[in-house]
Amino acid sequence: MSTKRDYYEILGVSKDATEAEIKKAYRKLAMQYHPDKNKAPDAEEKFKEISEAYAVLSDAEKRAQYDKFGHAGIDGRYSQEDIFRGADFRGFEDLGDILSSIFGSGFGGGFGGFSSDIFGGGRSRRSAPMRGSDLRYDLSISLEEAAKGVETTINVPRAENCEACGGTGAKAGTNPITCPTCHGTGQITSARNTPFGRFMSTTICSTCHGDGRIIETPCPACKGTGKVKKVKKLSVKLPKGADNGLRLKIRGEGEAGSPGAPAGDLYVMVHVQPHETFDRVGDDILYELPISFVQAALGDEVVVPTLYGNVKMSIKPGTQTHSVLRLKGKGMPHLNGSGEGDQLVKVIVQTPTNLTSEQKDLLRKFDEIEKKKNGKSKHSGIFDKVKDAFNS
Ligand SMILES: [Zn+2]
Ligand SMILES: [Zn+2]
Repeated sequence: MSTKRDYYEILGVSKDATEAEIKKAYRKLAMQYHPDKNKAPDAEEKFKEISEAYAVLSDAEKRAQYDKFGHAGIDGRYSQEDIFRGADFRGFEDLGDILSSIFGSGFGGGFGGFSSDIFGGGRSRRSAPMRGSDLRYDLSISLEEAAKGVETTINVPRAENCEACGGTGAKAGTNPITCPTCHGTGQITSARNTPFGRFMSTTICSTCHGDGRIIETPCPACKGTGKVKKVKKLSVKLPKGADNGLRLKIRGEGEAGSPGAPAGDLYVMVHVQPHETFDRVGDDILYELPISFVQAALGDEVVVPTLYGNVKMSIKPGTQTHSVLRLKGKGMPHLNGSGEGDQLVKVIVQTPTNLTSEQKDLLRKFDEIEKKKNGKSKHSGIFDKVKDAFNS
């Protein structure tokens, strides 16, 4: 874990990089190392590393946490397919408390079970069946998948009840016995006489560690824990229009509870990867279209890519650079199922370079004619008024 590289270093940005700088750096690296494009043997590993760094640094909350605690604040939660396992915090009581105070019950809004199970567990009587921990799974999808909706299979590592012992932890054919010290309550109540009166105090039973039961012959399959680590394949269906921050709750697919108690829930957090060509702003898609100054001046019919395939679009004669044209309905579907956004095409007029002497002559001639059209030149006025919707 300590050999993990710094997320900022991975993305090649400074500690105070802006959100846009981080996104830009990620996009560049993701293109470079995407396993579909890069066949180098370490490309996939690199790509995972980049994605993990981006998953953390692009999320203000996670980034703040990473800045404060480094990998210790993130480890076990975003490693390997970005899986969050609440149970990993069992060994980090202090860190758990810190996280708990940072996130409170507002962490994603859905981790009430998480904090009460893990952080409160030690204080309650354990002889009562305990609900399983909630799990978090970070699912990364492409913008195209977000537009069309996607059904995919995820592999969720989680604790399940051991089949050999039914989750009791006692070897098949044997049963846990009731703890003789606490008679199954998990607690020892002792009385103390003082000059001020009789005080009762309750502590967790040290014989059974609060379990109320003792396993004499542990189940060999789970070594007496009652739980085994398994990878569960689950099918997840994402609706059209999914965006970053979308969270799906899958009831009962978290970690197994103690025998007789319900399992926790699984939360699938959706991350939409930045796209090579398109930018998403809400449900609109932004696209920059480079055209020549001749096309801009004379008009043209052009082909523009959209998330749903190429479409024809006409450029009107006299189109100014940074004009924004709208392709209705070619944006992202609204998540609520009614309608969709638009694709906004921002025209970028390109100034020609590497002109031949013939072209230069033609342009000088053009300029002479333009000057002769004395009084008709409105250039300065119009150019000043060109509005740039994205730069404003
Ligand atoms: Zn077992
Ligand atoms: Zn006991």
